[in-house]
Amino acid sequence: MRYHKIPDETVRRLPIYLRGLMVSAGQGLEHISSQSLADLVGVNAGQIRKDFSYFGDFGTPGVGYNIEKLAREIKKILRLDAVRQTALVGVGDLGSALLAYPGFRTFGLDIVAAFDIDPKKVGRIVYGIPIEDLSRIGTLRQRDISLAIVAVPRAAAQAIVEKLVAAGVCGILNFAPCKVRAPRRVKVITLDIAMELARLPYYMPAGGLSQKVSGGQGRGTIHSVA
Ligand code: NAD
Repeated sequence: MRYHKIPDETVRRLPIYLRGLMVSAGQGLEHISSQSLADLVGVNAGQIRKDFSYFGDFGTPGVGYNIEKLAREIKKILRLDAVRQTALVGVGDLGSALLAYPGFRTFGLDIVAAFDIDPKKVGRIVYGIPIEDLSRIGTLRQRDISLAIVAVPRAAAQAIVEKLVAAGVCGILNFAPCKVRAPRRVKVITLDIAMELARLPYYMPAGGLSQKVSGGQGRGTIHSVA
């Protein structure tokens, strides 16, 4: 079954829900109410019910949502039930930290290949993954790797994206601080922690940290998402 009409904003929240569901399953729960999930992930309960209604899961009144069934459904929608293998290009400070991070496995995603151009790095094994020379990037198609993470300097990012596309990659997470172009069939998400940090002060009380924080001075509440 394909799900055509789920808005992007809902798709953006689905991994957040999925992580919350997995935390709950890990605590031995079988069902969860929209309110409990809301408390866990920081999205309001009405929004959660609306999001789930897009794919026809309305839960059972008084019981809530079946966690296993809902998690299975969300994985199917996100295609996490099929796509698993990810490549990394650029094994510097950020790339190494990504290789070390176990959190991708929550979603069944594994970084299984890593590429760099630095001859001092090629051949080394970083967190269990051998670093390959960039010239081997064309092998991704045969290896059934269709997702990639770009962690190279800005100047190299566009050329890397083009190589990834030519190697059959159709989903790219770009960490380089620039816009990169790709054919429409390829989904590129650019993630920039600096930009997120740069918008935080806007929500702080005027006058900065020296001013005592009291009700009504900030421009809104910043919610953390579990
Ligand atoms: P780094 O210099 O430590 O690592 C870059 C790595 O890329 C090096 O190992 C280098 O050899 C390799 N490289 C360079 N050109 C390459 C190419 N053509 N093909 C393959 N490998 C190549 O840098 P870093 O601190 O790890 O940052 C990497 C990128 O991520 C930079 O663009 C940086 O601006 C960005 N960054 C983004 C965020 C964010 O929040 N989005 C945070 C930190 C860094």
